Amino acid sequence: MSPESLQLPLLVMLGLAFGSFLNVCIHRIPLEQSLNNPGSRCPGCGYELRWFDNIPVLSYVVLLRGRCRKCRAPISLRYPIVELITMGLFVLHGDVFGWTPLLAARLIFACAMVVLFAIDLEHHLLPNVITLPGIAVGLASSLFLPPGIRDALIGVLAGGGVLWLIGEAYFRYSGQEGMGGGDVKMLAMIGAFLGWKLVLVTLVLSSVAGSLIGLLVIAIRRGGMKYALPYGTFLALGALAASLAGDRIIAWYVSFY
Ligand SMILES: [Zn+2]
Repeated sequence: MSPESLQLPLLVMLGLAFGSFLNVCIHRIPLEQSLNNPGSRCPGCGYELRWFDNIPVLSYVVLLRGRCRKCRAPISLRYPIVELITMGLFVLHGDVFGWTPLLAARLIFACAMVVLFAIDLEHHLLPNVITLPGIAVGLASSLFLPPGIRDALIGVLAGGGVLWLIGEAYFRYSGQEGMGGGDVKMLAMIGAFLGWKLVLVTLVLSSVAGSLIGLLVIAIRRGGMKYALPYGTFLALGALAASLAGDRIIAWYVSFY
């Protein structure tokens, strides 16, 4: 067997295992609970999950059929979905970056985006315990890896600064808080990992995604403007797309000039 033929099964297994851990982060970080202690429990009856209840996707579908072994309380579909999405992201990243050090950095970044997406979706919250260390880890990796420390530092300032200015201007103008501080720190983290060029790509992609989904919701609800998908979810989607395809998007855009 060649080393390349092992890459796909390895990424699939790593993706499922990390997805399982991300579920723990998504569940516990907003509650400010410890990530390793105690073991996973059923929120309904407190039954402590055994190792065989904890096999990604398989346990949910085959063993438990979406219910707790003891009290039959339904288990959120979020668990297998997060595991499958994380697996897909690992395989995609392996395809784009190959077996390189940059793959490791971008996988850490992708895991953070999955967690931020899920927590923002459910709690409208982008926790500092992810974004602030994220800025530090992103800058540290950019010392050795693309985009390089100069682009990364500009990315932090541009990413954080632009959103901060928009939020501040909106606040002065309307007297309401428009953009949360979490969005500012999240975009600074994106800048630290991806550099300022891909921050711009992220902003464009997340605005387009936000507008399209916003229009769709307005169309479905016949003019009801009150839809509340938080901006961090779109930032996460835009940043993942920028990380995977941003360089090609920039090259395509530049080719018109
Ligand atoms: Zn239970």
